[in-house]
Amino acid sequence: MKDQKVLNETKEETTELSLPIRIHDDGSSEEYDLVITSPDEIESEAIGFSKEMLGNWYSDEKPGCVSAGFEIEFDCPENMEELTELAEFLGDTPLKEFLDQFPLYGDCSIDILPDVPDCPEAEEHDWTNEFENGCTENPGVWDTGNGRMKYIAHCRHCGMMRTTISLYASGNSNRSGGVPDETEEYSDPNPDWVAKYIEEEE
Ligand SMILES: [Zn+2]
Repeated sequence: MKDQKVLNETKEETTELSLPIRIHDDGSSEEYDLVITSPDEIESEAIGFSKEMLGNWYSDEKPGCVSAGFEIEFDCPENMEELTELAEFLGDTPLKEFLDQFPLYGDCSIDILPDVPDCPEAEEHDWTNEFENGCTENPGVWDTGNGRMKYIAHCRHCGMMRTTISLYASGNSNRSGGVPDETEEYSDPNPDWVAKYIEEEE
């Protein structure tokens, strides 16, 4: 018990480690610092961070998808002070095991979804699939084959229709071929739909 307590205290002192991460798409690459607070989270943090950065790169692009990857190379520090810091950060993780993870490569491809148009009738859209066709237990949902589902919903306030197609069987992803895993489309607001389904109901 006593040892455990000492370890926790040490971990609290050294709480972050900065790793160089290179994100690349088809045409370019950029290096950043990935900051992690625990050795277990390197891969998940790297994927999350890379997707966020790519989202920024492509924020002005048309909807579609981007095929991209990341790479982390990390060398064992040579000076004793940094080495000690690293060992403290790792706590009970053997140093060798940690270093064996590098270089670490991963996929961070993203879909570029359109901005959600503002709701003209309310602060936010209120999406419902209540009045759609499809099976009764699951209105507004269709299996389109090829590992994808289609979801339809309307906004209760303005009648805008949202169509989402998203991949559920990851083996059918064709992002590398330029087909997004997820797409979203929004129609114009439709007051007739609101009049027919929402106002009549009230
Ligand atoms: Zn709306």
